[in-house]
Amino acid sequence: MSRGAADWLAALRELGDGEPVRIMNVCGGHERSISVAGLRSLIPEHVELVPGPGCPVCICPEEDVYEAIQLALHEDITLVAFGDMLRVPVNAPKREPRSLEQAKAAGGDIRPIASPTEAVRIARDDPQRTVVFFAAGFETTTAPVAAMLAEGAPENLLVLLSGRLTWPAVAMLLDSGKPGFDALVAPGHVATVMGPEEWRFVVDKHDIPAAVAGFTPDSLLAAMYSVLRQLRDDRHFLDNCYPQAVRDGGNPEAREQIDRVMRVVDANWRGIGIIPGSGFELRDEFAAHDARKRFQSYADESRKRVGEMPPGCDCAQVVLGKIYPNQCRLYGQACTPRKPIGPCMVSDEGACRIWWSAGYRDNVWEGRDASEAGG
Ligand code: SF4
Repeated sequence: MSRGAADWLAALRELGDGEPVRIMNVCGGHERSISVAGLRSLIPEHVELVPGPGCPVCICPEEDVYEAIQLALHEDITLVAFGDMLRVPVNAPKREPRSLEQAKAAGGDIRPIASPTEAVRIARDDPQRTVVFFAAGFETTTAPVAAMLAEGAPENLLVLLSGRLTWPAVAMLLDSGKPGFDALVAPGHVATVMGPEEWRFVVDKHDIPAAVAGFTPDSLLAAMYSVLRQLRDDRHFLDNCYPQAVRDGGNPEAREQIDRVMRVVDANWRGIGIIPGSGFELRDEFAAHDARKRFQSYADESRKRVGEMPPGCDCAQVVLGKIYPNQCRLYGQACTPRKPIGPCMVSDEGACRIWWSAGYRDNVWEGRDASEAGG
């Protein structure tokens, strides 16, 4: 542990014990740092760290993954997607490919990429072939996609956009009246792009302490210290504990490009439903690059019922911080990273996979109120 982290830990302990406090994070990177560094066992016992909606792969609508699979199987295209997306399961019948990985095995030209730059390179390498970039992600992924289009993407490169904004999911939790947390650690990487101001509503509207944090244990511990001290002093504000990277207003150029290329729309979150103003769609000026405009839709009304999590999977409740990953009855039983049932066990940013990789092996479903169980 770094000197800074040890100092913050000592400061946290000096605050002393108190009423139980639940601090939510909304970033897979935060959850990974917390779990890998074992911070839960180091911080004072009355403090609980709750992973919240921080995994874009986990909440990507099932119908969007299905659409990507169908495009790859039925259209003469190359489909590129971030590697995590390839293993995300859909609820198709067993005789059909149930993930992009299986669609690739069935003959689809599907390639994993690590960045939009790779999508551009693949399109430029073969200008006669249509390349569809299945772009699912939060603001930090959506900003480079917007930049790619704003700066002029190759004509043969289309986008199947499934971008989401993080803060509306937190707003939905807070508006529900049962948010399940007393303080928020806000995502530093999102704030780097969009500005920390996006998170002011947490304090201004809901009077809940909030602090923006980076990925390192010392930045996370600094944010935890900030919100615990705010609670102790009953003086709530939005703290920036990642000032090295997060500036007021975020990255103006990236925000301008997002605004120029996309508009904000109501959007579906897998297993959760429609969250107002939480998604992006391409503006009409970029219709030539919109895969949804170029190809017929493979959306099927009869599939709406299967557009949820796989049976028995409590991913939606994990994403919303209602339960911990190991409170799902399938955790470590039928569902492991080698054989994932739900998206939270697929993605590096999914809480189930992070917990399993960090060594949390106990399944505590039996200790849970059965009325909470999903599926
Ligand atoms: S352990 Fe598997 S089945 Fe359970 S919530 Fe996580 S991803 Fe879903």
